[in-house]
Amino acid sequence: MGSETEERQSGIAEPWHCPVSRKCGGCQYLGLSYSEQLEKKERQVRETLSGIVRTEKITGMSFPYFYRNKVHAAFRRKKNGDIISGIYAEGTHKVVQADRCLIENQNADRIIQTIRSLLPSFRITIYNEDSGYGLLRHILIRTGRRTGQVLVVLVASSPVFPSKKNFIGALLKKHPEITCVVLNVNDRKTSMVLGDRNIVLFGKGYIEDILCGKIFRISPSSFYQVNPVQTEVLYRKAMQLAGLTGNETVFDAYSGIGTIGIIAADQAREVTCVELNDHAVRDAEWNARKNKASNIRFYQDDAGRFLEKMAEQGKRTDVLFMDPPRSGSTETFMHAAVRMHPDRIVYISCNPETLARDIRYFHRLGYIAECVYPVDMFPWTGSIESVCLLTEHNQGTQNHNSQNQGPQNNNSQNQGPQNNNSQNQGPQNHGTQNRDNQYHGTKC
Ligand code: SAH
Repeated sequence: MGSETEERQSGIAEPWHCPVSRKCGGCQYLGLSYSEQLEKKERQVRETLSGIVRTEKITGMSFPYFYRNKVHAAFRRKKNGDIISGIYAEGTHKVVQADRCLIENQNADRIIQTIRSLLPSFRITIYNEDSGYGLLRHILIRTGRRTGQVLVVLVASSPVFPSKKNFIGALLKKHPEITCVVLNVNDRKTSMVLGDRNIVLFGKGYIEDILCGKIFRISPSSFYQVNPVQTEVLYRKAMQLAGLTGNETVFDAYSGIGTIGIIAADQAREVTCVELNDHAVRDAEWNARKNKASNIRFYQDDAGRFLEKMAEQGKRTDVLFMDPPRSGSTETFMHAAVRMHPDRIVYISCNPETLARDIRYFHRLGYIAECVYPVDMFPWTGSIESVCLLTEHNQGTQNHNSQNQGPQNNNSQNQGPQNNNSQNQGPQNHGTQNRDNQYHGTKC
């Protein structure tokens, strides 16, 4: 089921020699120890955001291996007829064999090898991107870390999959832990992995996982964070920064399957979510029902356009969560967001560069970034996730601004008096008051 103890027992030889590291390009930090990686990432965030916000200490993982719950494999038929499975060499569409990986769920890697070994006897052909002939394009495996559920997506160029019943029977015999098999039809000449059509061959068509005590359904095409252990760390920090007391109106923009909104719903008056992907919105609605969250609504729309409409109607919000893709948010979105006058904007970002750009834009619109917390969601890779709190200028008493940062104000281990973190709430740390009139919210 992927518990940490089991993962530890799986044994990991240090230093890890990845046979395809040069070709894959995924784990850019393979040559560094984990603590060096954390230092480097924290420094990168601090440098990228220097002068605009104070960067706190990064939160790393205690066991930074095999964390990826979503594993993807491409296939290639060699000239001698052998089939290999693995990854695309960086920047190309050439498949390089890779049977094990430092960061992928190990069972998913085993399932991929089993599928590869079954292909010849079922006469399943491999899709050739140049000629457009062949059937199997990719395999995608998603695992629910807490539930143990396993979804196998066979991405094929046609809905006609020969002897699919027998194929699934043979696969399940070797991997009874698989709870669901979906045939995804991708018949276009595209570099996108998934096509639009999903045909459920076995099981429910989705898996469930548990995050922060809530259950979430995840369909093949919906976004779900790839590192669930650190996602909980990230979401808890986001909730802490939001300082919810049960009274607030909350917006969750770029809401995916509704994870943040549903977790927030317990501590808010009402939550409104907006997300572009209709599969994700359907998952989100199901997730709200399953978690008995009745004070939450979902809208399928472009987040910028939707917020504009809300602002036009004079809607306000107390807290705005935003979690845009790598490209960051848009000026339309940010304009509309400030017209809704949130007390707090909790910005979750997987790209410090676009976070810096957007914080600067928010500054111009009258919001100021108070602090940013990096969370290492992607050990061994160069990717960095962080969560940032913004509040309105002059709204509180102690907004930290760029011109006002001493060097000591850059690290949580090295806290100057103005560096107010949750453990150390001075009077300048102005959170909201809850109904019991106790200090509840936490700024930074
Ligand atoms: N908050 C979610 C999802 C974050 S990923 C979570 O933590 O799981 C970013 C999400 O933004 C994806 O689900 C993507 O489909 C969605 N998205 C991308 N562009 C968008 C847009 N213009 N408007 C609304 N949602 C968008």
